[in-house]
This record gives sequence, C-alpha cells and structure tokens, in this order.
Amino acid sequence: MKRLVLVGGGHAHLSVLTALAVRRPANVEITLITPSPQQNYSGMLPGWISGHYKLSACQIDLQPLVNAARGQLILESVVGMDATRHCVCLGDGRHVHYDWLSMDVGTETETSWLETLGTKLLPVKPLDLFFTRWPEQLTAAQKRGSLHLAVVGAGAAGVEIALAAQFALQRAGVQVQVDLIASESGVLKGHHRRVQERLLAYAGRAGMTIHFQRAVGTPEGVLLADGQPIAADLVIAATGARAPVWLQLSKLALDTDGYILVDKYHRSVSHPNVFAAGDVCARPNTGLSRSGVHAVHAGPVLADNLLAVLQSAPLRAYLPRPHSLYLLACGPRYAIASWGPWSAEGAWVWHWKDWIDRRFVRRFTAYKVD
Ligand SMILES: Cc1cc2nc3c(=O)[nH]c(=O)nc-3n(C[C@H](O)[C@H](O)[C@H](O)COP(=O)(O)OP(=O)(O)OC[C@H]3O[C@@H](n4cnc5c(N)ncnc54)[C@H](O)[C@@H]3O)c2cc1C
Repeated sequence: MKRLVLVGGGHAHLSVLTALAVRRPANVEITLITPSPQQNYSGMLPGWISGHYKLSACQIDLQPLVNAARGQLILESVVGMDATRHCVCLGDGRHVHYDWLSMDVGTETETSWLETLGTKLLPVKPLDLFFTRWPEQLTAAQKRGSLHLAVVGAGAAGVEIALAAQFALQRAGVQVQVDLIASESGVLKGHHRRVQERLLAYAGRAGMTIHFQRAVGTPEGVLLADGQPIAADLVIAATGARAPVWLQLSKLALDTDGYILVDKYHRSVSHPNVFAAGDVCARPNTGLSRSGVHAVHAGPVLADNLLAVLQSAPLRAYLPRPHSLYLLACGPRYAIASWGPWSAEGAWVWHWKDWIDRRFVRRFTAYKVD
C-alpha cells in the first residue's frame, strides 16, 4: 500500500479527487487533510457579498468527493512538515506519514502592518472567517445606518470586494463611504492599461475614492503615506499574499518569498515525492501568477502526475497560457472582462461570469460515484 496524502482542499485538489474517483489505483490509501468540510469558491465571493448568491452556492462539499475517491478526510490544518521524514504535523499534534504528498493550501493574507486596527480589521483570508464576519458587519452597519469602509489592496480581490461591499451596503440602506487604498502601483497591477482605465472609470461613477499610496493601520483607521488619516469603521485587508510560515521549516526548497519551488510537472525541485499546485507553489520565470485560473487549470495535470507516479508512468507538464481570462464583478450584475490586451464590460460579461462560475461549482457538487 502506498500512502497518498493531499494537504488542502484547494481548487487543484478538486480535480485530483474526481480523477482518483474514476482512476484510483488499487494499491493506494488516500487521505485529504484540510480544516473545513467545504471548499469556498472565491470567484463567487464578490457575488455573495452583493447578495446575488446564497452561501451554499459558493461552496463545494469535500466529503462526497473524498468518498468517491474512497479516501479519508481529516478536518485539521497542517502546522508543520518534515520532508526528509515524509511526515506532516497536524494542529491537534498528530503526525501523518506519506509516500506521496500533494500540497494545495493556498496563501494567507499579509496583515502585519494593519494589526493595530484590532477588531476593525477583516482580512479576506481565511475565507471561512470572512464568510462568517461579513454578515455580522453588514447587520451592525444597518443598525448604525452608516459605515465608513476602507479596503486595502487593489488587486482583483480588493477591487471586487470594495465594489461588492459598497453595492451591498447601499442596497441595505446604509449610508456608505468606501476608500480603496491602491498603493502607488495602481489598481489591477498586471492587467492591461485599458482594463485599469475601465475599472477606474467604473469606480469613479460608483462614487468610490481611490488612494494611490501605501497605508498603515491605526486604531482609528488607516494612515496614508502622505500623513493623511482616514477614519474607518471597518478595514478589509485584501493585501498581498503570504506563503504559509510553517513551510520555512519543512526542508522543502522554497523561493525567496517562501513558496514551494516546483518544476513544470509541479513536482518539488528538492523532494520528488512532493507535488504542489495553486497559490502555494512557485515556478520562477514562467509567468505563472498566483490566481484561481492557474490553480484550476493545473488541477488535471496534477491529477495525471499523481496517478503517473503511483503507476510508474511518465509525467505531464503544465504549460500556463500566455493570457488568462479574468471576469471582474463590479457589485451589481455588471462585470469587466480582461484577457491580455482585450477587454470588455457590461451586464453580459457578468452573466458570462455567472455561467462559468456556476458550471465550475456544479462540476464538483453534482459529482456522484457509480
Ligand atoms: C475575492 C476574491 C476574488 C478573486 N477573484 C479571482 C478571479 O477572478 N480570478 C482568479 O484567477 N483568481 C481570483 N482570486 C484568487 C483565487 O481565489 C486564488 O488564486 C485561488 O483561490 C488559489 O487557489 P488554491 O487552490 O491555491 O488555494 P485556495 O483556494 O485558497 O485553497 C486552499 C485550501 O487549503 C486549505 N488550507 C489552508 N491552509 C491549510 C493548512 N495549513 N492545512 C491544510 N489545509 C489548509 C484551505 O482551507 C483551502 O481548502 C480571487 C480571490 C479572492 C479572495
């Protein structure tokens, strides 16, 4: 018996579980270790904030997928690992040994410079916590009648959340002021200039204020680099991602930011019995950005490669496409599309996004074992 351990119920592992369900080798014991019984689909989070989706529509139950793969589910977080001893350590102190390991644990939100905000701080990740705390904030704002919200970070997640939150608060009758803190590198870094212009024009029409400077947290809100204070009742942190700190002592080869270095097969460059996909891995000089698109697209390749090593078959490379399609929700049923230099916007883009997102979730929720 070979022990295959999957750590994290992330997007790539969804494909791994469905592949194992239909192509499971006889001599393998499968374990998924992840803290929550559901995987949250972040692509639908802005639509959930806006009130377009129920929470259940944005979540994928992991137990049926694990059952289909005839594996076991351990609801715990990994807090440490020793790649030389082929072992991961769980939050409850247990150790789980593996012959083959696959990691899809995503990232954490870097909030160290906002910690002084205390209870006013709401990081986007972990998503489980965000899904619990946002409705509480919305209810509190409704009672108060007003909310001054600051969103720090203007990548795809930051702008979508800022626009969705503004829309939801206005719809709930709350008098709202939203400040988006974009830093000097601007909004939607990495997207084409035309996409950035579309977003800025949209946010301007929506009455959002955008600041192009860095900020630090204060007990009252945030303090911009030029000394201007912004008082806020709530600060949502959609700031840069951070690799899980416990990887530092794992003995795996990591890049300078602490992400797992993998080759084109998504295999660790230091430990050939370890694979990684999604935001937690790094493939320098390939243009592989940290995004759900790559976590999803690398999934079937990761699945093939895990099955290949279990059956001594050749590996397959994941070749990221030069451009990825991003569909950015704007609050109401309206979205901006970004694909390399091409862009578009409108209600039809939102319906396109809605169709893609619902189809993705359905692929895993409608999953049945024969
Ligand atoms: C609001 C928002 C909007 C976004 N929009 C887009 C978009 O339009 N397009 C796009 O491409 N990307 C988008 N992203 C980014 C996208 O969500 C991430 O890139 C994607 O989720 C990464 O997938 P992943 O599988 O690597 O990790 P995740 O989806 O984060 O999954 C990680 C899994 O590992 C589990 N886990 C975490 N820590 C541990 C641990 N220690 N032990 C065990 N399990 C653990 C988690 O519970 C989770 O199940 C958005 C993100 C946000 C927040």
